[in-house]
Amino acid sequence: MNKYKAKSAPCLYGHIHDSKLEAERCNELHLLLKANDISDLKIQEHYLLIPAQKFSTITENEQKVEYIADFVYFDNRTNQTVIEDTKGMRTKDYILKRKLLKNLYCNDNTIFVEKGNEKRKINQILKRVKYKETLLKNFTNKFGEVEGQRLYKMYEKNFPSKKRSKKSTTHHL
Ligand SMILES: [Zn+2]
Repeated sequence: MNKYKAKSAPCLYGHIHDSKLEAERCNELHLLLKANDISDLKIQEHYLLIPAQKFSTITENEQKVEYIADFVYFDNRTNQTVIEDTKGMRTKDYILKRKLLKNLYCNDNTIFVEKGNEKRKINQILKRVKYKETLLKNFTNKFGEVEGQRLYKMYEKNFPSKKRSKKSTTHHL
């Protein structure tokens, strides 16, 4: 699942995890387990998304599709089952599987969370801010302070950055 940053790392409990971040999170979850904040911790839990499909000829058959969650546990504080994923790289495959997983398994009692993407989120915000600054600078350089600002505001109104950035941030829940 983690071919993209393939640097596996052990946790304190003898599992080999796909990343250092995931191993650290495993240690953390074991602490929460000891503190009785969570219970029933499972690692690499498989969820069936699409069952294997059999057709009249063998070449038409399809293998099953599964989502393998990094961690699943019951949160005693919220009374919810949490399916947790530690993700760095979000591939299109991953995003599609996540949507299927949520559609099939998530509800008020079972939630899905992604951990370790805070840095990514901040980088995206910074990128957006920088883009806006550059845009405004280009407008004012070309048309002068007053006219540039007016044009920039018009541009923002017609193409709000929220709308634009959605395209590149498909990982939104
Ligand atoms: Zn572990």
